[in-house]
Amino acid sequence: MTNAPSSVAIIGGGPAGLIAAEVLSAAGRTVSVYDRMPSLGRKFLMAGRGGLNLTHSEPLDAFVSRYGPAAEQLAPMIEAFSPSDLTAWAQGLGQETFVGSSGRVFPRSLKASPLLRAWLARLAGQGVTFHLRHDWRGWSADGALSFGTPDGAVSASADAVILALGGASWPKLGSNGDWSAMLAQRGVEVAPFAPANSGFDAAWSSVFAGRFAGQPLKNIALSFQGRTVRGEAMIAAYGLEGGAVYALSSALRARIEAGDEAVVEIDLAPDLTRAKLTDRLHRAAPGQSSASLLRKAAGLSPIEANLLREACGMALPRDPGALARAIKAAPVRLTAPRPLARAISTAGGLAWSEVDGGLRLHKIPGVQAVGEMLDWEAPTGGYLLQACFATGVWAARALLAGA
Ligand SMILES: Cc1cc2nc3c(=O)[nH]c(=O)nc-3n(C[C@H](O)[C@H](O)[C@H](O)COP(=O)(O)OP(=O)(O)OC[C@H]3O[C@@H](n4cnc5c(N)ncnc54)[C@H](O)[C@@H]3O)c2cc1C
Repeated sequence: MTNAPSSVAIIGGGPAGLIAAEVLSAAGRTVSVYDRMPSLGRKFLMAGRGGLNLTHSEPLDAFVSRYGPAAEQLAPMIEAFSPSDLTAWAQGLGQETFVGSSGRVFPRSLKASPLLRAWLARLAGQGVTFHLRHDWRGWSADGALSFGTPDGAVSASADAVILALGGASWPKLGSNGDWSAMLAQRGVEVAPFAPANSGFDAAWSSVFAGRFAGQPLKNIALSFQGRTVRGEAMIAAYGLEGGAVYALSSALRARIEAGDEAVVEIDLAPDLTRAKLTDRLHRAAPGQSSASLLRKAAGLSPIEANLLREACGMALPRDPGALARAIKAAPVRLTAPRPLARAISTAGGLAWSEVDGGLRLHKIPGVQAVGEMLDWEAPTGGYLLQACFATGVWAARALLAGA
């Protein structure tokens, strides 16, 4: 016999809250999910616009290392609800999955809506009740949960509470981080929010931005502080965005926060060694214009050749060795991360020192926290959703175990 609670209030109906609701209702608990929005899972649906990268297929050791300093806390949770568990769960809801060329896992439909629809139907079938347009405002003097609703203030109570309130990016989807002030009032430490997986400002010339904004740099490698990431980036009117940039975004942000500019080096010919590229440039017909040299000998597309000129100035080196060096490490100065509201995810959040091994808050008895509101960050690649699911499952199981 455990002393597991029979009624649970889950505040926040994103993936972390909903998976906790699934585990608890499957075990016969009475579960009520509250959310301030008129419908659930809006950020999950937004993730579906990019194909819904659910998780990643790489080995577990490599997988957990993506969470940086939070890997220690998250590793047991991700082992307990692993990428294969998440994939099997999606399949159980009728969504076949596939592993993309980069090892990322997606539903075949590349959409979140059929999965969310099937999931909510399963939850309703397990007796979960949904209370939408319930904006959680904290606790009343008697300890009840207080909500603002279109019909006025409402209070509710339950044996246990799980907070699944998300981070603070894309606030129009429901998560705006206002919970941090409510928890801070109760003496709970929250690490400052910062944009994660965000684009960065770069001072493009108006001609370059006008011509290339919205276009991808397809086959490049980005290096910063000794770390190199192969992939894609996108030229934006304001600067640079896309997967390869996001993968480096926490180090880039840290450098900028320390008061420096972050100079990222872009390898525009990652499939050629510098020696090979130098050789090709050397052998090119003499007297060629630099434009034709870049196109024919180095194989650069117009966007890549123009980026090189943006990075190095209009007068490119004529010496083949120096030109090859520039092509393999075109320096782009990034001056600021994009605002948190436009970032894919949030760094910072509820400090790990504030929760126990079952994700229970030390300072607020009977309350747990899950998902992106906890202090971890990870690159895109399915690591965000995986951690949200794994923490939701972990907290629910801890509650059931009474541990
Ligand atoms: C554009 C975009 C694309 C993304 N693509 C991917 C992807 O492909 N793969 C991936 O792994 N991740 C992706 N993510 C990230 C992923 O969607 C999030 O990490 C995940 O949704 C966080 O889950 P959560 O349950 O912790 O919080 P959320 O999904 O943010 O849910 C929190 C819920 O809490 C509610 N809430 C907040 N405060 C209150 C309050 N005071 N009262 C009541 N309700 C409240 C909100 O309305 C919301 O419904 C993407 C994110 C964005 C923005």
